[in-house]
Amino acid sequence: MIRNIDHIAIAVSDLEEALGFWRDTLGLKLTHREEIPSQQVDTAFFEIGASKIELVEPTTEDSGIARFVKKQGSSMHHIALEVEDLSSMLVNLKSKGLHLLNDVPVDGAAGKRAIFIHPDSTGGVLLELYESGPS
Ligand code: ZN
Repeated sequence: MIRNIDHIAIAVSDLEEALGFWRDTLGLKLTHREEIPSQQVDTAFFEIGASKIELVEPTTEDSGIARFVKKQGSSMHHIALEVEDLSSMLVNLKSKGLHLLNDVPVDGAAGKRAIFIHPDSTGGVLLELYESGPS
């Protein structure tokens, strides 16, 4: 079951510079900052109601997100939906033959588990499914 839009992620080439807009100009409250070595990114989150804006800066040159920023420049990267049971969702998506970027959930920010569905299976948007855990 899909519960919520968890976050909208924007890939940026320079996180500090991006903070200048989202935190300082718009005045949003920076609620979480985390480097995630397993995904080769540095992240910053702003909570807006039940959803968040995530800024993602690649920390290496050769990751998928580094290539994305190199090609597109800073721009919207993915939408993340909060799901209740990621494992059963994963079985369901696999049975429908969707193109998943990872077959096994990866660790996302704040230790949450996530899978990514390739834009060629969603009509053009990289989609992250994020397990929120029991609420
Ligand atoms: Zn995300």
